Amino acid sequence: MTIYNTIIVGSGPAGIGVASLLSQAGNDYIVLEKKQIGSSFINWPKNMEMITPSFPSNAFGQMDLNSICEGTSPAFSFNKEHLLGDEYAEYLELVANYFQINIQPNTEVIKVNKQPNGWVLETNQGDYFAKYLIWAAGEFQNPQIKNIKGAEHCIHSSYIRYPDRVDGNDFAIIGGYESGIQLAYDLVSNEKKVSIIDPNEIDDTSTSDPSQVLSPHTFKKYKQIQNSPFYTEVKGQVTSVIKKEDGYHLELENEQVIKTERIPICATGFSLVDEPIMELISYREDGSPKLTEKADEFDGHENFYLTGPSVRHDNHIFCFIYKFRQRFGVIVEDILRKEKVDEEQISLCVERWKSNGMYLSDLSCCDDECVC
Ligand SMILES: Cc1cc2nc3c(=O)[nH]c(=O)nc-3n(C[C@H](O)[C@H](O)[C@H](O)COP(=O)(O)OP(=O)(O)OC[C@H]3O[C@@H](n4cnc5c(N)ncnc54)[C@H](O)[C@@H]3O)c2cc1C
Repeated sequence: MTIYNTIIVGSGPAGIGVASLLSQAGNDYIVLEKKQIGSSFINWPKNMEMITPSFPSNAFGQMDLNSICEGTSPAFSFNKEHLLGDEYAEYLELVANYFQINIQPNTEVIKVNKQPNGWVLETNQGDYFAKYLIWAAGEFQNPQIKNIKGAEHCIHSSYIRYPDRVDGNDFAIIGGYESGIQLAYDLVSNEKKVSIIDPNEIDDTSTSDPSQVLSPHTFKKYKQIQNSPFYTEVKGQVTSVIKKEDGYHLELENEQVIKTERIPICATGFSLVDEPIMELISYREDGSPKLTEKADEFDGHENFYLTGPSVRHDNHIFCFIYKFRQRFGVIVEDILRKEKVDEEQISLCVERWKSNGMYLSDLSCCDDECVC
């Protein structure tokens, strides 16, 4: 059994970001990664860009929105506002190498077992033990198609790696949020017919929160295809998909039926990679895990933390990097306090993380909407 004080599972932005703070604080840790650094980003559709813009604003106390570690900026590394998935994975690799983050690739955590004094992780490389466990396995590797009968006749949008190379002409996309609109844009730009089906208004502007409405980057693409003869929008909820001889019938809640020749594409999102820890988690009504507000520990499990896009507190959704990085410091502070690290050293770390957008403990400040 290999023993560490802290184990982080996953080397995406969340895992590497928390690891960078732990290493600043001198904690003994390792990051266990199933494949390689940034593997979710490497598997993004090939022309998918980051929707949050990067800008090297760090010197003025405003970290690049996509940075996960102080003194770094994807905009600076690539001289680009909207990085491709492969480029962002390269940024993560640069950060991991520069800060000498302790990562072990090709190590898949298969099951986590609770012990009286810590956590035993069963992996394909043997068993590991840690006093503190930080789950950073992300969502991308757990695509979701929920509440659609006949979902087995559909394909999830994340499996379409090269949208400009798909055969056929007539596509139905279920879901009109970021991934759905991006895919529709790629297909319509190649003069392919696309119907988007979504229960909500796609150009809804009732909130300024990009976790709930299209980001400006995708909105611009939406405006470019909205009036194209190749683009159709249907407001409704798909309840079932039936495979027929002439193609697929998509049945909507309002009894409308949409026919398509090609396999329907579900741009219906992702949820936490939770199989190895399922027995340990309790869930909120919206399906995300219940966490303590103080330090993002899983409900009822001291010293077992979640970091990344599945973090939710009340109505606050931490699904973007610039949002979830703000909770890195809260987790590491909790571990340092439990390890009885000198209070003065902890305060110094916390001040530094606060000024870099990596520490947010008072969630009441997240409620503000833009007024114009
Ligand atoms: C198409 C698309 C575009 C997006 N654009 C943006 C954007 O512009 N800005 C933004 O802020 N966010 C964006 N997001 C969301 C962002 O990608 C995610 O929030 C981010 O990847 C989450 O980081 P993470 O480290 O939690 O997870 P991931 O990046 O998914 O990393 C998780 C890591 O854990 C590893 N892992 C999984 N299971 C195990 C296991 N059992 N054992 C060991 N390792 C494991 C994986 O291999 C992976 O490397 C986008 C998402 C998608 C799908």
